[in-house]
Amino acid sequence: MAVTRNKEDQPWWADGLPFSCQQSGRCCHRRGDIGYVYVNYRERKALAEQLSLSVADFTKRFTVAEDNGARVLRFEEGRCVFLDGVSCQVHSSKPVQCRTWPFWQEVLACEETYEKEVRSMCPGSRHGPLVPAAEISRQLEETEQALWDV
Ligand code: SF4
Repeated sequence: MAVTRNKEDQPWWADGLPFSCQQSGRCCHRRGDIGYVYVNYRERKALAEQLSLSVADFTKRFTVAEDNGARVLRFEEGRCVFLDGVSCQVHSSKPVQCRTWPFWQEVLACEETYEKEVRSMCPGSRHGPLVPAAEISRQLEETEQALWDV
């Protein structure tokens, strides 16, 4: 027998959300608690290879340790060190979080938060094709998994 779900069980974004990156670079700026880009070992390795550095050198030069030992990309003057104008200098190996913006758990928690943290500053969230809920869920899971990896 097919399982039916109540409307109340669905996330507020169950009908999908429009999104198409407009390359504004705004998501590469720090905004309160939102602008931290965590980089696990696999992501640091990919970035180090792109920059022809050892993982240790990359980690030392371009990341900062959080209290819990996790590493985040270094930001200077409120922006990611890899942001050049509005372009990402490490686009081909950028971290999962950068690829999955704005489908992060903390900003999708409720529509009010999404409005405040995403739609108010990200032009891509107001344009583009509808991203289906299944794809949003997939990106949410990928982001959470990357955050748990060390
Ligand atoms: S790595 Fe690239 S996409 Fe990610 S925050 Fe830095 S500049 Fe932006």
